[in-house]
Amino acid sequence: MEISEAVIDRLLSKVEKREGDGCWYWTDHLNRGYGQMNVGGKQMKPYRLSYEAFIGEIPDGLVIDHMCRNPTCINPMHLRAVTQRVNILCGDTFAARKKAQTHCLRGHPLVDGNIYYSTGGGGRRCCECRRMRGQTPEAKQKRRDYRAIPANKEREAERMRLWHLKNRRST
Ligand SMILES: [Zn+2]
Ligand SMILES: [Zn+2]
Repeated sequence: MEISEAVIDRLLSKVEKREGDGCWYWTDHLNRGYGQMNVGGKQMKPYRLSYEAFIGEIPDGLVIDHMCRNPTCINPMHLRAVTQRVNILCGDTFAARKKAQTHCLRGHPLVDGNIYYSTGGGGRRCCECRRMRGQTPEAKQKRRDYRAIPANKEREAERMRLWHLKNRRST
């Protein structure tokens, strides 16, 4: 497809070029994590437009792979045309993206010593977050120990009673 000068201008007006990773972040509409742009009434993927505008026609049967693993990036230097199979192997998948993550959702580094694997699957989990939730084996044991002391048991029961009273009032 021939990309017009006007489309290229629009394309470039909607990216934020960041130093560091060199990615051109798409700042406009997203669809399923990827940019989207309306060209002549058709919804187009900006990274495909970028590839075709700056590098060339995408050969039949090939798909565009983000070498930078950043799906919103449209820097043509970060894009390459590959077969669908290579694209999947290269990890444009949820699992691979998770694996490529360097930090958890709260920003703790996912490095050795701060990673555990849950028996429920789901890949690497953050130990720091587990500590914050009070879900470490030690924290659970501590709660069990606390409740094992009769005086604490009474205090706990009283706390629960107050908690229920409070919640009844608010409903
Ligand atoms: Zn990039
Ligand atoms: Zn965390």
